[in-house]
This record gives sequence, C-alpha cells and structure tokens, in this order.
Amino acid sequence: MKQRLIDRRSFLKYCGTIAATLGLSSTMVPRIVKALTTDARPPVIWLHFAECTGCSEAFLRATDPGVADILLDVLNVTYHETIQVACGQKAEYNRDQAVADHAGEFICIVEGAIPTADNGIYGMIGGRTMLDIARAVIPQARHTIALGTCAAYGGLPAAQPNPTGAKGVKDAIGVDTINITGCPPHPMNLVACITSYLLNGRMPSLRPDGRPEFCHGSTVHAACTVPHGCMQGYNCKGPRTYNNCASLHYNQESWCVQAEHQCIGCSEPNFWDLNQPFYNPMWMSMFATYRATATPHEEQTTASCTPCHGGDIFEKEEARQSNPRKFQLAMHREHEISLMTNRSCASCHPEAPGATNERIDD
Ligand code: SF4
Ligand code: SF4
Repeated sequence: MKQRLIDRRSFLKYCGTIAATLGLSSTMVPRIVKALTTDARPPVIWLHFAECTGCSEAFLRATDPGVADILLDVLNVTYHETIQVACGQKAEYNRDQAVADHAGEFICIVEGAIPTADNGIYGMIGGRTMLDIARAVIPQARHTIALGTCAAYGGLPAAQPNPTGAKGVKDAIGVDTINITGCPPHPMNLVACITSYLLNGRMPSLRPDGRPEFCHGSTVHAACTVPHGCMQGYNCKGPRTYNNCASLHYNQESWCVQAEHQCIGCSEPNFWDLNQPFYNPMWMSMFATYRATATPHEEQTTASCTPCHGGDIFEKEEARQSNPRKFQLAMHREHEISLMTNRSCASCHPEAPGATNERIDD
C-alpha cells in the first residue's frame, strides 16, 4: 500500500463506499481491499466513440480518491485515449497491442455511441470508422461495459433525427453489454461494478435492459429526500428514472435535486427525445428575468398570462422590451398579479416542504 498513490485511511474509506454502493455489509471491506490490491485485476481498455467525453470528465473530476488513484490503484486501466500520453499512430498501435496482449481477458469500457449510417463514416478515428474499431476490439473483451447513456442506448448522438445512425454498443454490433447509465454516469458505479466482478468472479446481476441492479434497480424518486421541496411540479423525472444518484451523491457532495434542479431522467433510454422539454419556456423566462433563486409558480403564471396572451408571451415581449423585468412588473401590477416564488409556497400551501411565508412581489 505504501507504493500506492492513495493513503491507507482514504483507501479504506473508499472501499467502505464501494461496499455501501453494492449494498454489502461493512464486514466485506477487507475482501474489497484484497480484491482491489491483487495483481490479478483484469486490464481495462477504455474506448471513446461519438460522445462529449462527459463520462470521462465525471471520472476525471472524481475526488476522494481522485482519478489518478482510481486509474492506477483501483482499476487496472491499460488504455484510455483521453488521458494517455500517446497520440496519433502511437496511440492506435498501443490500443491494438493492448488488445492483442490481453485478448479474452480485458474488460472493455466503451464511452459514446457508435455511428452506423453509411457504414459508419460519420465517426472516424485514425482513418478507421468507430464501427470498424468496435467490431475489431469489443468481441475480444471478456466483458464490455457501456459507460454512460450514449454507449448504452445511443444517448444524445442518437437523438432525433439521428442523421449518423448512432446506436448504443449492443444495438450497433450485437454484443451484450453491462450498461452503467447516466449523463454522466457516477464513477463509483463503474468502480463498484468491477469490484463486484473481482469479488465474485462474475459481473453483478443485471436488469433485463442490461443495467446492474445495485445501481439501477430502483428509482431516483424512491431515495429522494426532497432537500429543497419536491420538484415534481417542475416535470421531475425521478419517479420514472432508475439511478442511485439520490443516495450516491456526486463526489459525495450533491446531485441534481439537491442542486435545486429537477431530474431529467438522464439514465433512461431515449431521454433526450422522450423527456423534452426539460424546461418550460415560461419558467426559463421568469428565471432569467427575476433572481436566480426564484422558482415561478407554473400554474399561476400560466393561468395568469397564457389564456389571454398565449404561451410565448414572455419570449415575444422580452425580445421587444428594453427592460423586460420592468415590463413584467408593470403587467403584473396592471393585472393585480403578484409573482409567486418557491419561497412563497406556504402563502397558499402551508404543507409545502421547505416553504416559507415570504412573498416576492415587486
Ligand atoms: S424531487 Fe423528483 S425525485 Fe425527488 S421526490 Fe420529488 S419527484 Fe421524486
Ligand atoms: S437526478 Fe436524474 S438527471 Fe440527475 S444525474 Fe440522476 S438520473 Fe440524471
């Protein structure tokens, strides 16, 4: 452990978090420590296809322990295009060599969707299509983890009209994958998945859609503690989204609803198409015009303006008015309407969680 980058106390704490993520007792921590420090860890080859690299970014921003500790001490990452030193032909050579050296043994982590239209020409790396690289590399892996919603289900690259024919790995090349989804996925879920493999000699149990039960077995809603009041009135997709972010906070700090944002269902298939619009234009207009913490009362604002002026009244007027806020306030005054915010929920709804009787008028 002395030669490792991570100190012993942090490593033990980290192993405790892995145990909790997998739903294991803390008595399993010594076994997890042993599993993660064995030299028999399978090599990991990490491929990038059509994506924003947000999954790697989430990984690179991991703290306590940081990415260097995870990559070098916990996962045995042999090839990762984003952070390796080699580039160009040398990188291509390294990938092919790593695959040849570890054929049948390595775990392939795939980030990003695979463009398939017109034989995959819309996604090229080093003169080869992503489709061709995927077909050459992935079938040689012992297991393939589709990391992130793009690799699992196509994600944003596959959003309509999807001109590149982007697909998730399984749909693109017909290989079964373990899908750890999210946009981005939580790095701990990846580490826990591989730890489970090291502990048991097999991957964790999966749902029919290929997602591990331990991290995608129940909804966001089930574990949500409504830190700032329920966002269901703001189109929160937590009740229909299977992810563990409400209990496994990003960097042990926070997650969407805690940051006062509704869940947009980023771990679900086709969420870019099915869950739109993420934002009601009326809310955005009101957010922009009023202060950042103001959360408008949808029913009241819609009821007060839309029936007479149409749903896009604020967009139209904002484009025309030199001082949209002043204009809105003048309109509210004229119509004897007081703008409500989440701080004023208790004015009408004393049972509202986190509400106070404060009211924001002019
Ligand atoms: S904020 Fe969203 S996830 Fe949390 S309880 Fe409300 S609907 Fe469910
Ligand atoms: S709360 Fe919803 S949108 Fe946010 S990370 Fe979790 S699944 Fe994705």
